[in-house]
Amino acid sequence: MIIILLGPPGAGKGTQAQRLQKEQGLVQLSTGDMLREAVSAGTEVGLQAKKAMDAGELVRDEVVVKIIEERMDREDEATGFILDGFPRTVAQAEALDKMLADKGKELDKVIEVDVIESALIERITGRFNCAKCHANYHEKFRQPRREGVCDICGSTEFERRPDDNEETVRRRLDAYRKQTAPLLPYYEKAGKLVKVDGMQPIEDVSYEIDRALGFR
Ligand code: AMP
Repeated sequence: MIIILLGPPGAGKGTQAQRLQKEQGLVQLSTGDMLREAVSAGTEVGLQAKKAMDAGELVRDEVVVKIIEERMDREDEATGFILDGFPRTVAQAEALDKMLADKGKELDKVIEVDVIESALIERITGRFNCAKCHANYHEKFRQPRREGVCDICGSTEFERRPDDNEETVRRRLDAYRKQTAPLLPYYEKAGKLVKVDGMQPIEDVSYEIDRALGFR
C-alpha cells in the first residue's frame, strides 16, 4: 500500500504517519526528516538543502526526488509506504508517478488533511519532539504524560525545529499555497484524493483516515 499524506505544515501529517507506521507496519517516508538528517550529518545533500529549509522555501525537486527514490529502493521489502511531505510540487508528483510505474507499484490514496490557516501558526510554534525517538508533542495540545519525560522511549531530552518560528512558518505556508496546493486537483482528477477534516481531535482524524484506507 502506498499513500500520500498531503496538507500544510502543522496539519498533523507527521503525527498520523507515525501512528500508521506503528499500527499498520507501513514505513513512514518523510522528506523533511531525511533532509534534517542530511543537514545534521553535513552531507552534500544537507549542504544544498539547508539554505532553503532555513528560509522556509522548498528544496529543489531533483534533490528530494533522488533521496526519496534511494530510500524506497532501500526499503524494498516494506509492505507499504506513507509519504509524508512528499510530493510537494506537481513536478515531484509526476516524478513519483514515473518512479512507481517503473517499479510496477501503484499509489493507493492521497489523504488531504485540511486545517484552517489561522490554527496552523499556534500548532507549529508550540510543537517539540523527543530528541531520541522523535515522538511529537505540543506545549498546549499534547504534553508528555510525565512532565519532561518522553511517553514512548523515556528520554528526557527534547528539541524544537529551527524552522518552527512564526516568520519561517508564514513562508512555509506561502510555499504550500503556491507550490503544493495545485496537487489537490492533480490527485482529484486521478480519483485518488480523500479529504479529512484535520480540525477534529486527533482520535477522530485517525478514525477518518483509517476508514478511508479500509483499516476500520
Ligand atoms: P517538513 O518537515 O515536511 O515540514 O519539511 C521541512 C522543510 O524541508 C520544508 O520547509 C522544505 O524546505 C524541505 N522539504 C521537505 N520535503 C520537501 C519536498 N518534498 N520538496 C521540497 N522541499 C521539501
